[in-house]
Amino acid sequence: MQENAFRISGTLIKGGDVIVSSNVLASFLKENLEDLKSKGLYNVIDPLESSNGPVIKIAGQELINLSSNNYLGLATDPRLKEAATAAIQKYGVGAGAVRTINGTLELHVKLEEKLAAFKHTQAAIAYQSGFNCNMAAISAVMDKDDAILSDELNHASIIDGCRLSRAKIIGFKHSDMADLRAKAQQAKESGLYKKIMVITDGVFSMDGDIAKLPEMVAIAEEYDLITYVDDAHGSGVLGQGAGTVKHFGLSDKIDFQIGTLSKALGVIGGYVAGKKDLIDWLKVRSRPFLFSTALPPGDVAACIMAIDILTNSTELQNRLWENGNTLKKGLKALGFNIGSSQTPITPCIIGEEKQTQAFSKRLYAKGVYAKAIVFPTVPKGTGRVRNMPTAAHTPEMLERALAIYAEVGKEMGILS
Ligand SMILES: *Cc1c(COP(=O)(O)O)cnc(C)c1O
Repeated sequence: MQENAFRISGTLIKGGDVIVSSNVLASFLKENLEDLKSKGLYNVIDPLESSNGPVIKIAGQELINLSSNNYLGLATDPRLKEAATAAIQKYGVGAGAVRTINGTLELHVKLEEKLAAFKHTQAAIAYQSGFNCNMAAISAVMDKDDAILSDELNHASIIDGCRLSRAKIIGFKHSDMADLRAKAQQAKESGLYKKIMVITDGVFSMDGDIAKLPEMVAIAEEYDLITYVDDAHGSGVLGQGAGTVKHFGLSDKIDFQIGTLSKALGVIGGYVAGKKDLIDWLKVRSRPFLFSTALPPGDVAACIMAIDILTNSTELQNRLWENGNTLKKGLKALGFNIGSSQTPITPCIIGEEKQTQAFSKRLYAKGVYAKAIVFPTVPKGTGRVRNMPTAAHTPEMLERALAIYAEVGKEMGILS
């Protein structure tokens, strides 16, 4: 065979030839990309030329940032940077192995002890991300003989984690406890399932509403359900920082408390907090823990510092809530529909998809970065620009953002 030539399905391919057998993929991609673009659903990514702080820089332009999950501003906190740098000097940049071989540094153990104390549980286990955590934890206990009752608005990683477990997935209407009860009763009485789990986000990130955990726990007790709360948006925000479960005083009633280290805690990673037996089981049976390299030392040290900061003071949480309230009050006073958020997450509901996107683009042109979120992420006709204030925003930044909102609202005829 000549150089630069090889065979695919018996056809001799030379450099420069079209590879016939990849046409299926090429046309699949072309068709679907064009379809997304024609519907305005193709997401273009703007790289930041700055840190993801309260003001960001994109293509040379400074923008007030209302789109990060860096709720407490910890992603750029000097104390975390210092802790990470010191850990890198001592342990290097990588953990070098998966946790169960020899990638467990003393830092990982310390992080897990801190997380358990922070969450008021017996034990905790850290993963490489919150997404990873849901891949790990659900399928470690649930399988094809089981059923999972899942809120219809649960996060994508919960949905994928449920699928991976091969359990029967039974959706219930968003935060509708009567529907949950009916589905739990049906599942229980069918006798088809060995175990039944109920699974929900703690805080729903599209509307900022809080799961009805007290009612959910009562239903779980009545029907013997395993309880699983993914509190990615509640940790650091509710319950003196410990999250939604603590907010309701239910720390000993929820079997799985999932959290992320990537949002309010400002770094990267995820965790499960719960009873010691559960965590022991996850350490021997959850696949990302066994087969994916441990979190790097610098990140772990930064996470430990973040938890120390949250444990010792509520100053950042207080500032986050104050900023959230300023933004909500301001947008409402201007005449915008801000939905019914119970947390600092502040949607500004515009409605029609194209108009929502145009609104977000005008905000951008004037100096506010707030992403449009439209169908299919939220129901049709409820397109919104979602605002995520943080503890790091100053009153002047919020005032400026509100002034820009007023200008764009009037210019586009949304405000009278
Ligand atoms: C963001 C989010 C995750 C993913 O967390 P990462 O640490 O970013 O991977 C998981 N679950 C929920 C509910 C989330 O909002």
